[in-house]
Amino acid sequence: PQHTPVDPSLDPFALAKALSGFHFIDGGYVPGRNGATFAVVNPATGIEVARAAEGDAADVDAAVQSAAKAQKAWAKVPARKRGAMVHACAALLKDHVEELSRLIALETGKALRTESRVEAGVVADVFEFFGGLGSELKGESVPFAPNVLSVTVREPLGVVGAIIPWNVPMLLMALKVAPALVAGNAVVVKSAEEAPLAVLRICELMNRVLPPGVFNMVSGYGPECGAPLVEHPLVRKVTFTGSVETGKIVARAAANKLIPVTLELGGKSPMIVFADCDFDKTVSGALTSMRFTRQGQSCTAASRIYVERPIFDRFVTAMKTAVDAMVMGDPLDEKTDIGTIVSQDQLAKVRGFIEEGTATAGATAHVCSAMPSDPALKKGLFIQPVIFTGLGPDSRLVREEIFGPVTVMAPFDDAEAVLAEANDSEYGLAASLWTNNLKVGLDLAHRLEAGLVQINQNLVVQANLSYGGVKSSGLGKEASLEAMLEHFTHKKTIMVNMG
Ligand code: NAD
Repeated sequence: PQHTPVDPSLDPFALAKALSGFHFIDGGYVPGRNGATFAVVNPATGIEVARAAEGDAADVDAAVQSAAKAQKAWAKVPARKRGAMVHACAALLKDHVEELSRLIALETGKALRTESRVEAGVVADVFEFFGGLGSELKGESVPFAPNVLSVTVREPLGVVGAIIPWNVPMLLMALKVAPALVAGNAVVVKSAEEAPLAVLRICELMNRVLPPGVFNMVSGYGPECGAPLVEHPLVRKVTFTGSVETGKIVARAAANKLIPVTLELGGKSPMIVFADCDFDKTVSGALTSMRFTRQGQSCTAASRIYVERPIFDRFVTAMKTAVDAMVMGDPLDEKTDIGTIVSQDQLAKVRGFIEEGTATAGATAHVCSAMPSDPALKKGLFIQPVIFTGLGPDSRLVREEIFGPVTVMAPFDDAEAVLAEANDSEYGLAASLWTNNLKVGLDLAHRLEAGLVQINQNLVVQANLSYGGVKSSGLGKEASLEAMLEHFTHKKTIMVNMG
């Protein structure tokens, strides 16, 4: 492996070029075995900024073999020491927040100030949290018979395959890699084809602390590079974040090998606003929840907003006014609030939804903000955020995940009816309730079908709080001590008969 000198003083464009063509295997950057590469494009300009290695089964095999070898020694390192090393990665990540946030802004189009820098900061926090959990890898002593010592111990699973999407790649990578490593596993990550660079950069930072091979990364397309990772005989666990469709393919492949799989999938998260809410705080909560600053490309986006009728019109107007005030522009510019959509494919998909909604009888499209005027951005993948009103519950815009800056708003009159409407979805990732009547709020919180329900706040995702969906939104949890123990270890029972 080559230790490509990556100079942190490089601007993101130079850094992207320096990372071109590499996987990260066995402690260093290595070119793809077949030499094939694909373009990484700056979505704000349409200009290619790097080439990513187009990995295949041979690259995956090299990464898994390296991980399998390294894992044997890594599992013998005392758990607290493993934790301390993961914690040390956090310190390095903190030192590189500016560099990483510029790189992620460049490849995903997420605005630097409102999104990319936030993600880079949270990544360090995730490593720090899990790094402190080494001593929690302990078992129980279970009374069985007077002369039998019966104990349980937590053991790592072996090599973990981690597959991530492009919307928050560094954070989703961290939520998988940090607990897996502390638990004594080695990991092979398959990065997202749209955003392979920032996670590839992190590899070198982690490698300054961790032994070679415990952490590897391959880039490439799903069927050619992701599927061989799931199917590799030495991979004993798969953790996946992405769409429901791909999640099912991954789950089927994992079932063929009878290995455990964790799935974090899509969402269509309802936000329910009662007339007695704190109005201004709730409008600002809706903006944050909908993630307009990330062009709505968030799995937990409040993409269905139900507002009690007396304040409905006022709420729609306040939302539109607030989004109008947001500046859409170059993601790398500190003045920008809203960046771009990640890719042409996503842009076409989101536009399709907007056209369908606009053509629906009785619906109104409230188009917000303004397209950037800078001629350098004329090929950028920008979409003006849209708030739809007047769509019925059967509209595809109400039922399907759009993953773009589009939210649907509807008035409601009755708490039971809005609860039924909120739960009438194949998804169950997140939900939020906004009211000063906590009796009503708590009652509905218990009855909402979602993995995460928040009252009077949103998007407060913490590394120490369990996170994950129900229904088609997923299987299993991420974040929290419980997720580390349940998803990255198995419990072995040992019995000693001393009779
Ligand atoms: P995607 O399913 O298209 O791709 C996700 C990853 O899977 C990519 O790395 C891709 O290359 C890989 N992949 C594709 N086919 C594969 C196969 N046959 N075998 C193995 N791997 C394969 O999803 P996306 O478009 O990149 O991401 C958007 C989706 O992710 C949305 O649905 C969003 O809701 C979801 N998401 C969920 C969460 C969560 O925490 N629940 C967080 C972020 C994003």
